[in-house]
Amino acid sequence: MEKKKRIVIALGGNALGNTLPEQMAAVKITAKAIVDLIEEGCEVVVAHGNGPQVGMINNAMAALSREDENQPNTPLSVCVAMSQAYIGYDLQNALREELYNRGIYDIPVATMITQIRVEQDDPAFQNPSKPIGHFMNEEQAKNAEEKYGYIMKEDAGRGYRRVVASPKPAEIIEIGAIRSLVNSGQLVIACGGGGIPVTRQGNHLKGASAVIDKDFASCLLAENLDADFLIILTAVEKAAIRFGKPDVKWLDDLTVEEAESYIEEGHFAPGSMLPKVQAAVNFARSGEGRTALITLLEKAKDGILGKTGTRIHR
Ligand code: ADP
Ligand code: MG
Repeated sequence: MEKKKRIVIALGGNALGNTLPEQMAAVKITAKAIVDLIEEGCEVVVAHGNGPQVGMINNAMAALSREDENQPNTPLSVCVAMSQAYIGYDLQNALREELYNRGIYDIPVATMITQIRVEQDDPAFQNPSKPIGHFMNEEQAKNAEEKYGYIMKEDAGRGYRRVVASPKPAEIIEIGAIRSLVNSGQLVIACGGGGIPVTRQGNHLKGASAVIDKDFASCLLAENLDADFLIILTAVEKAAIRFGKPDVKWLDDLTVEEAESYIEEGHFAPGSMLPKVQAAVNFARSGEGRTALITLLEKAKDGILGKTGTRIHR
């Protein structure tokens, strides 16, 4: 029998929705797309983002501590952990249901709470760049800056969002446990929200105030698991050059060198498409036969069959 293709899927915001009810509905569609790939004979590992969710949790916890002086504020690392559990819960529930609906009863589904080590001196701590939470207009953004001391930035022409530090993932702490589960045929959700950022202090891991970009965390996960494919599912079918301009060109197939020259020319917005293309390049470069794909959730199956998406390879 041919060896199954191992795929790490990175789910973006549109696979999860922005609110609790939206997420409940979105994960059903997401689960269908993932189980489609399993039925195609792929071995799938799921990672996901948490931008809207971690923003929501952080806002809720901050409001609680403003209201009640006995409630100290919740560190951002804990908010990421909460988002992993809450998103993992919805995803594992929907995946289990979808597997059962198709008569697949022998693939257990589990979420791994995942810590990821970052470097304490990562320059990203001095330059917050990762958008979290909901979109705001200019006036709301000014208000959030003045009232809460948040750093606000414009996000790819779609409005303003709070930005936080986004250091690069250096080491997946729970990789041994994840690998055992994956190797025994379980469907694992890991590195949610980019992983809980921690720094090493002797034997202690200390939570860091940051949100790792899930595109980079998924890339590291795919490398560590020796995956064949890294599929980044997002809100666009393909990455583009001259994005948003009349002469936009959607990209089908790129070598790492071609992708890198487009990165240098500044075609991909920081905090949204840039980390995806960078992660795709890193993965494709990391080993023989490794391919990265950026496409829409609904197109995941067509993408893996080579029909659409932006494909990056050596
Ligand atoms: P996700 O939640 O999936 O990580 P993001 O919002 O971070 O999604 O990134 C996807 C978005 O990147 C697209 O919806 C699009 O608006 C934006 N984008 C910025 N630059 C480009 C580009 N060059 N090509 C395609 N999309 C781009
Ligand atoms: Mg993103």
